Order: sequence, then structure tokens, then C-alpha cells
Amino acid sequence: MIKYNEVSVSFGTFNVLKNVNFHIQKGDFLHIVGPNGSGKTTLVKTLVGLLKPTSGTIEMNTDNMGYLPQKLNLKNQLPMTVQEVIYSGFKKQRLIPTKTECELIKAWLLKMEIPELFNKSMNYLSGGQQQRVYLIRALISNPEILILDEPTSALDPSFREKFYHLLYDIQQKQQTTIIHVTHDLTDAVKDDCKVMYVDQSIKFLGSYHDFTHFEHRGHHHA
Ligand code: ADP
Repeated sequence: MIKYNEVSVSFGTFNVLKNVNFHIQKGDFLHIVGPNGSGKTTLVKTLVGLLKPTSGTIEMNTDNMGYLPQKLNLKNQLPMTVQEVIYSGFKKQRLIPTKTECELIKAWLLKMEIPELFNKSMNYLSGGQQQRVYLIRALISNPEILILDEPTSALDPSFREKFYHLLYDIQQKQQTTIIHVTHDLTDAVKDDCKVMYVDQSIKFLGSYHDFTHFEHRGHHHA
């Protein structure tokens, strides 16, 4: 479903990613870990198409992607309501959302435990509430590939676990391919997940079980 061939990314003379090769299948749940500044965000940006590799090629058989970027600094800058932000995640945009679309948004707000925020302005939300809204935005169009860059950084621990259950549910029911950048694997990982350890290149890609042995050999994620 996704295949990287010798992908490198440089900013000037600084090589962030060097000769990255990997492929993943439809329905895979991949966790990307690695130290700070190791190139994780850069890697997912090439996937989403926000960044062009300096060299190498990326093959993908769909462009139906949902993306949650790492840094969202729209707070207090965009006078948008929660409904409008989520609506912008639909692939087909009409001037006004249909009734069915509004119902879908409301159902997701309920699942994310923020039903009361439907008509609120984003400016009034806490960081954690905003993050939930952006998560719904990424999920709303049933993307074939879901790319989440540290999606739980502002979520409280009790909701974090629920959120991962939700993701596993989506992965199983809809065969969604999920790519998840994180620096805390603990509550996110299940046995059939894959783990990629990035540090300029891919130092490890395999099962979570094998990854724990890899870690014991002296590699630690931040
Ligand atoms: P991670 O997500 O693993 O923390 P990033 O992919 O964000 O790492 O960044 C990897 C390295 O590339 C960092 O040293 C960062 O400063 C650098 N970098 C990222 N984007 C740019 C850019 N647009 N211009 C210059 N350097 C960049």
C-alpha cells in the first residue's frame, strides 16, 4: 500500500532522512518512534505530500488520507467553530453541511466525549479539547490511511486509552492503515502492531515483541 524507495530529505546540507526504504500493507498499524529531531515528523510530511523528498520515490495506491499534524497553532487566529473545523476534513465540501454530515459530526463529538462543543468557537476550547476536534477532523472522511503525529500529547491519560481503543476499532472494522508517531508506546501498543524506530534512517522495523529486544540492546526512544 505504501512503499518508500531510497527516500532522502535534506535541508541545505543537513540530512534529516537518509536512504529510507520500507513498505507497509493495507490495515497495518505502525507506530513510529525515535529520539527528538530524528526525522519522524519529516517522514510523515513526505507521506502526506507536504514535503518533497530530496531524492528517492514514494509509491502509494491511495490519496484518501486523514492527517493530524503535530503542531496546530491556529488557536485565537482562526475564528472557526468546532463544526466548521471538523467539516473541513470531509473530502467533498459543500457550502453548507448536509443534515447527515451534521449528524455524523455530532456522533463523533459524542464518541470523543465533547458533545456540548458542536457550535462553540475553537478559541474557547482547551488544548485537549482542540486536539479531540482535530482528531475527529482527521477521522471524519473514513480515510484509507490515517496519519497521526503525536495525537495524544494534550489528552489526559484516562481518555488516551479510550482513544487508542477507538483507533483499533477503526483499524479492524474498516481495514484502515494507521501510522502513528509517538514517544510513548506504553498504552498504545498491541501485539499485532508494527514498530519503526527512526534516527535519520530506519534502525528497526518489525513487531513490537522484537522491538523490545532491540531496545534492550541499547537503543532508547525519547
Ligand atoms: P522529530 O519529529 O523526530 O522530532 P523532525 O522531523 O521534526 O524530528 O525534525 C528532524 C530534524 O530536521 C530536526 O533537527 C529539525 O530541526 C530539522 N528540520 C525539520 N524541518 C526543517 C525545515 N523546514 N528546515 C530546516 N530544518 C528542519
